[in-house]
Amino acid sequence: MHEYRLGRSFLFRLEHGADLEPALTEFIRKHDIRLGTVTLIGAVYNATVGYYDHERRMYEILKYDHGLEISSGVGNISLRDGQPFLHLHVALTDEKGNTTGGHVMPGTKVFACEVFIQELIGAELSRTFDEQTGLYLWPQ
Ligand code: ZN
Repeated sequence: MHEYRLGRSFLFRLEHGADLEPALTEFIRKHDIRLGTVTLIGAVYNATVGYYDHERRMYEILKYDHGLEISSGVGNISLRDGQPFLHLHVALTDEKGNTTGGHVMPGTKVFACEVFIQELIGAELSRTFDEQTGLYLWPQ
């Protein structure tokens, strides 16, 4: 565990039609945000999210081909292979109020999306492969 201080704050809207995860990854790399938190709300035309199967140690891909609200989007930015890496989850709600969600994958087309990114300054935090989970995680 490290303590961090606040760096730059970014508040912006993603482009209509952008692919959520790649567009945000491009933004954080363009601005060289190496550590931080992400929150977002909005709506998408469709969604591709992952559910990590603990037994099989792989993501099951869930696809939704209809409009959904991003009720809540939460993520973080750290390093993986020396590059800024985005880890983003969303809760998605349909027209009946049913909610699903998961780990955001490429293939999630933005209708509208308002993003807040808070950069953190301090010791670098890098993801490495974790044998216990099969995931790339932070050191404990
Ligand atoms: Zn995840």
